[in-house]
Amino acid sequence: MTFSEQRLTGPRGGLPHGGQLVDRRLDAEEAAACASGPLASLVLTAAEAADLRALATGAYSPLVGFMGAKEHESVTEQMRLPDGTLWPIPVCLGIPDGVRVADGRLALRDSHGGLLGVLEVTEVFERDRRAEAELVYGTADPAHPGVARVLSSPARAVAGPIQAVLQPLAGPVGSRALTPAQTRAAFAERGWTSVVGFQTRNPVHRAHEYLMKCALEMVDGLLLHPLVGPTKEGDVPAEVRMRAYEAVLGYFPPARVLLAALVAPMRYAGPREAVLHALVRKNYGCTHFIVGRDHAGVGSYYGTFAAQELIRSLPAEDLGITPLRFDNAFYCRRCGSMATHKTCPHPEVDHVALSGTQVRAMLAAGQLPPPEFSRAEVAELLIDAYRA
Ligand SMILES: [Zn+2]
Repeated sequence: MTFSEQRLTGPRGGLPHGGQLVDRRLDAEEAAACASGPLASLVLTAAEAADLRALATGAYSPLVGFMGAKEHESVTEQMRLPDGTLWPIPVCLGIPDGVRVADGRLALRDSHGGLLGVLEVTEVFERDRRAEAELVYGTADPAHPGVARVLSSPARAVAGPIQAVLQPLAGPVGSRALTPAQTRAAFAERGWTSVVGFQTRNPVHRAHEYLMKCALEMVDGLLLHPLVGPTKEGDVPAEVRMRAYEAVLGYFPPARVLLAALVAPMRYAGPREAVLHALVRKNYGCTHFIVGRDHAGVGSYYGTFAAQELIRSLPAEDLGITPLRFDNAFYCRRCGSMATHKTCPHPEVDHVALSGTQVRAMLAAGQLPPPEFSRAEVAELLIDAYRA
């Protein structure tokens, strides 16, 4: 543990989930030995590789590896690890029937054969994928992108602690992919003792900017923390989004905001994933976390406020990060400002509101949405991306 990490795990800032920040990086020498050694190999999917990275950096603290049968059952059924620690979603590693696992270590590789990490095999077990879909995602519908990933994963799973090589990522995302230790050090350097985290997998429009500013009025700093791991088809590519977030930074004092990328897969598990998103931001050093309408939802699988209700029902000491629940925001012509239904009494006809479908259609046609909806800098980047 470095000095800056130690300083931050004190009572002042937020403690990591479970009390200690996990660090499972594989050093270069060991990685070289594993890469060319006689270990059995398993090729990871993009989502599994993103989970591996999140485990290694401590984003998923206190987890130190992929879950075994007991953890899978306990998390699926109770939303808790076997020791009682709050944890909402199983993190498992499927293993195809053709891959033989002996005792000992398993090399984890990408589809080009590159070494991603090693797993100390403790267990191979049959994972109840249907129970996971129904209890964690609330549906076994294979049309749900997160459920589809669970159901198409092999029934056999391999468990155990991991160590991983943290390869630098390419492109505009790479330099922003900070580890929890790095964001914690950045917060300490800036003297922030309270930090609100904002999760997104979409471009940020005026409504989100407003929510972030409302939250920032109450704390020292803002972590704008877009998820950049594998998302579903139709979501805006991470590189484009990253440039759009950088444009939004122009509307915040630089000393009050940090833009970083979270490399993790999106599961679209709605309420349970909102809890995961909060715990991950706690590990990144945030003390507060914004939970919006239909947080981490997809389609119409979850109620509008289901995520906010679940997170509100959890004991504050188990969560260890303060959720800030927000309704959707819009520009109101009569208020002459951004507002929500909590703060504006006027009818919808006075509001500038567009559905996601309407915005995409406008951008695809090269049309700028109204400035009350989207900053022109952001919209122009998105128009270019749609036309490319
Ligand atoms: Zn109004």
